[in-house]
Amino acid sequence: MADTPELLDLAGIGAGPFNLSIAALADGLPMLSTRFFDRQRRYVWHEGMMLPDTHLQTGFLKDLVTAIDPTSRWSFLNYLVQHRRFYRFLNAELSTVSRAEFSDYLRWAAEGLDNVWLDHRVREIDHDGEHFQLKTDTRTFRARHLCLGNGKAPWLPAFARAHQGERCLHAESMAWRARDFTNQRMVIVGGGQSGADIFINALRGHWGPLRSLHWLSRRRNFQPLDETAFTNEYFTPGYTSQFAGLEDEVRRREVNAQKYASDGITPAALTEIYQTLYHRFDVMNEPRWAHLLPHREAIDMTCDDGVFMLQARHGTTGVLERFDADVVIFATGFESSLPECMAPLLDRIQRDAHGEPSMGQHFMLDWQGGGDSRIYAVNAGRTRYGIAEPQLSLMAWRSAVILNHLSGEVHFDLEDDAGPVTWTPQGRESS
Ligand SMILES: Cc1cc2nc3c(=O)[nH]c(=O)nc-3n(C[C@H](O)[C@H](O)[C@H](O)COP(=O)(O)OP(=O)(O)OC[C@H]3O[C@@H](n4cnc5c(N)ncnc54)[C@H](O)[C@@H]3O)c2cc1C
Repeated sequence: MADTPELLDLAGIGAGPFNLSIAALADGLPMLSTRFFDRQRRYVWHEGMMLPDTHLQTGFLKDLVTAIDPTSRWSFLNYLVQHRRFYRFLNAELSTVSRAEFSDYLRWAAEGLDNVWLDHRVREIDHDGEHFQLKTDTRTFRARHLCLGNGKAPWLPAFARAHQGERCLHAESMAWRARDFTNQRMVIVGGGQSGADIFINALRGHWGPLRSLHWLSRRRNFQPLDETAFTNEYFTPGYTSQFAGLEDEVRRREVNAQKYASDGITPAALTEIYQTLYHRFDVMNEPRWAHLLPHREAIDMTCDDGVFMLQARHGTTGVLERFDADVVIFATGFESSLPECMAPLLDRIQRDAHGEPSMGQHFMLDWQGGGDSRIYAVNAGRTRYGIAEPQLSLMAWRSAVILNHLSGEVHFDLEDDAGPVTWTPQGRESS
C-alpha cells in the first residue's frame, strides 16, 4: 500500500519574505507542523532587480520577526552577529541597508529554517473534502490549511506584451543575466523606484555606454516616497486594523490616495540622480544624452526593422510624442494573481465586485467547500488591509495574526497602545 502523504497544519506556497516571516515565527511553535515550499534553488530576493547600489525603502528593524519577537534567532541583528559584522555594520552608519544585504539575510533564514524547503515548486493543489493535497515535482503532501505567498506577477501594458524579448523587457528581469546595450537608445517607462534604480544604473553605464536615455513617467513629476512621521502611521497595526473595518469603496478611495506612502522614489535616490545629472551635464559639460520626461503616458508601441517606436501622450497639452529606441524597459509594476497551482480550486474562491479574490478577516480568502480548511494569503489584500499590505513594514505583525488564528491561541501579544492620531470618530458630534 502506498504511504499516506505527510499531514501538515499549514503549507505555504512560496517563501518570499512574507511567508518566510511566518515560517520564522512558527519556528518557535513546535505544536504546529508547518512547511513553506519555494521553487528557488538558490535563494535571492527579487533576483531580476538585484542591481548595484539599490537599497531597502524600509528600516532594517522591520525584519522577519523583530516587531513581534525581538528574541527570535531569525532577526536581522542576529544575522549580523552570526556573520561577525555587528560592529562594522554600526560603524558604517548606513541610513538604509542594501538590497543585496537584506537578500542575504533572507537567504540565511530560508536556508536555516527546517520548515522552509527550497527547490520545491508546488505544481497543483486540490482539496479532498478534508485536507488540501499539494503536489510538488517529487512528492505529495496533505495540509489542513494553506498560506499563499507566491508574490506578484510583473505587469506590462497590453501594447508591449507582443514585443517582449531581449530588448523589450520588464524591469523585474533586468538582472537575470549580464546585458550589453552599448551605443543603444534606451527608453525606460515608469516613474517609481524600479524606474529610478534602472535609470541611475543606465546613467552610470552599467549596461555599457548608451547613445541616449529617456525616462518617461505618467506621474506629474518624479515623485518622492513620503516617509514622514504621520504618513508612517499608516504602517502600524492600529491604523491597519481600523482601515480593515471600513466600507469597501471607502478603503479603495483611501488606499489610492495614499499611493506615495509606498510607491514613490526615495528622497536619497532622487538627490543622487539630480546630483549625478548636474555633475555630468552641467559641470563636466557632457552632451545631454539623458532626458527625464514626466507627465507622459506611454500609449502604444510598434517595432520596425528592430527599432521600437513608442508613442506617449503629454499630460498637460495632450500632444503626442514619439520616442525611437533600441531597448525599452517597462518599470510598470506588478499585479496580484493566484498561483497557477491553485487552478483546481479557482472556481471555489469568491470574487469581490472588482473581480479580485475576496478577503475576509485574519488574511483569509473566502472560499467554499473546504470544511474547516482555510486559505490564508499574504500580499493579496491591499484594498482590504491597506497600503502596508504589499510592504515589509507589517509582515511580522501579519504573520503573528495568522499564527494566532491558525492555532486558536494567543502565542503572540498583538495588543497595541493608542498612537498620537485618532483615525476613527469619537462618537459625539461637536456643536
Ligand atoms: C525590486 C523590489 C524591491 C522592493 N523593496 C521593498 C522595500 O524596500 N521595502 C518594502 O517594504 N517593500 C519592498 N518591495 C515590496 C515587497 O516587500 C516585496 O515585493 C516582497 O518581496 C513581497 O514578498 P512576497 O513574499 O509576497 O513575494 P516574493 O518576494 O515575490 O516571493 C514569492 C516567492 O514565491 C515563490 N513561488 C511562487 N510560486 C511558487 C510555487 N508555485 N511553488 C513554490 N514557490 C513559488 C517564488 O519563488 C518567490 O520566492 C519591493 C518589491 C520589489 C519588486
